[in-house]
Amino acid sequence: MINFLHIGIDDTDSPEGMCTTYLASYIIKKLKENNINIIENPHLIRLNPFARFKTRGNGAVSFKIKNDDKVEKAKKIVLDEVEKLSMFECENTNPGVVFYSGEITKEMTDYSFKAISSIITIKEAEEFANKIGAEIHKFKKGRGIIGSLAAISFPFEDYTYELLTYRKPENYGKNRLINKESVIKMDKNTFPDTFENFDKEEDYIAIAPKTPCPILYGIRSNNIESLLKAKDIVKVDEGIESHCIFKTNQHTDVHIKQINKISDMEQFSCYKVKGEVKNNPKIIEGGHMFFYIFDESGEIECGAYEPTKDFRKIVSKLIPGDIIEVYGGIGSQNTFNIEKFKTIKLNYFDYKNPICICGKTMTSAGKDKGFKCKKCGNKTKSNEKIPVKIERELIEGKFYETPISARRHLAKPLCRMNL
Ligand code: ATP
Repeated sequence: MINFLHIGIDDTDSPEGMCTTYLASYIIKKLKENNINIIENPHLIRLNPFARFKTRGNGAVSFKIKNDDKVEKAKKIVLDEVEKLSMFECENTNPGVVFYSGEITKEMTDYSFKAISSIITIKEAEEFANKIGAEIHKFKKGRGIIGSLAAISFPFEDYTYELLTYRKPENYGKNRLINKESVIKMDKNTFPDTFENFDKEEDYIAIAPKTPCPILYGIRSNNIESLLKAKDIVKVDEGIESHCIFKTNQHTDVHIKQINKISDMEQFSCYKVKGEVKNNPKIIEGGHMFFYIFDESGEIECGAYEPTKDFRKIVSKLIPGDIIEVYGGIGSQNTFNIEKFKTIKLNYFDYKNPICICGKTMTSAGKDKGFKCKKCGNKTKSNEKIPVKIERELIEGKFYETPISARRHLAKPLCRMNL
C-alpha cells in the first residue's frame, strides 16, 4: 500500500493580505518544480465559523504527497515558504504546519469534526498531535496547528470543489476587473452544477472576494468539469497568475449538529433544532431582527442580521405558534444566527375575544369568568377565545435561506439539498 505524507497549513494570512489557499498553491507549484507531485486535489477545509481568531472564513488547507525519499526536501520547501510568505506582522497571524504519515484514524476524524463544530485550544491540538505522532511546526503562537490537524484529518462524505484564480501581485488591493455580464452568463450556463455565483437581488458578483487578498475570483461547484467550463466563460480585464482547484467541505452543512433539546445548545457551536416561535420578530437599531423559539427544555433568541437583507422580510412573517427548524450557530452575543429555516407547522389561527350580538368586541370579565360586553352588558360563560383564520404568506414544509451575499461557506444551499 502506498504510504502518504499529509501536509496541513493554516493561519498564514491577515485581513491586509495573503491567503492560505494561495500560499498552498504556491507551495504546490514549488514542489512540482522539484519533481514532487501532490496526489489528487488539495483540500480546503472550513472550520468552526465561530472560532475567535479566524480572519474570514476559517479555512485550513491540506494536501498529500508520496512518502518517499523526497519527503525531507518537501518539508523544507513547505516550511521555508510559510516562513517567507506568512503575514507575521499581524498579531493574530500564528501559522502552524503539520506533517503526518499514516492512516487517518477514527480519533483524527473525530478531532476534525470537533474543530468544525466547537472550540479547540492550541494545547489540546499539540497534545493530540503528539498522541497520533504528527510532526508540528509552530510559528509565533502556532495557533494554525489546530486547523492544520483538522484539515489533514477531515473525512469527506459530501463535498464540493472550488476553483480559485489568483491575481498578479501588482494588482493586489486594486479593484477586481471581472466582467459582470460574463459572470451572469456563466451562472446561466453552469448552474446548478456551479452555484453562489451571482446574487440577483443584491446585484452582487459573489465569486469575487471583498478583501485585498490574492484571490481574483472563486467558483464553487459539485464537479470539476463544470468549473473548467465556467472558467472559460468568465472574462476578466486583468492577468491571472495561476489557478487551483480545491476539494472542499464548503456548502455541505457538515458544521450542523442535530439536537433535540434547545437547552443542550452551547455557545460557539452550530445546530439544527426545532422550536415554537414565541413572539413576533422585531427589528432593532442597526437593522438586525430577533425573536425567540422555545421547546419544553428552554428557549433561545434567534437573529437574522442586517447583512441577510431580504431574508429578514421572510423572517418577519413568522408568528407565535409556528413550529420551525432553524439551522445555524450561536455566536458571541449568545444569539442563534439563522442560516436557513424550515417551516414544520404553521399557525393558521389567531385567538380573539368574542364579538357581542351588538357588534362590539367583548372584554374579559375576570379570570375564569368569561367575557362581557361593555356596551350592552351581555355576558358569556365560556372563557374560550374564538379562532380566527389567518392568511399566511409562508408555506408549510418549505425551506427559507439567507441570500448568497450573506451565506456562510459551510451552509448547504437549497440548490444542493435535493428538495
Ligand atoms: P482564511 O479563510 O482567509 O484562510 P481564516 O478565516 O481561515 O482565514 P485563519 O487565518 O486560518 O483564518 O485563522 C483561524 C485560526 O483559528 C487558525 O489559527 C485556526 O487554527 C484556528 N481555529 C480553527 N478552528 C478552530 C476551532 N474550532 N477552535 C479554535 N481555533 C480554531
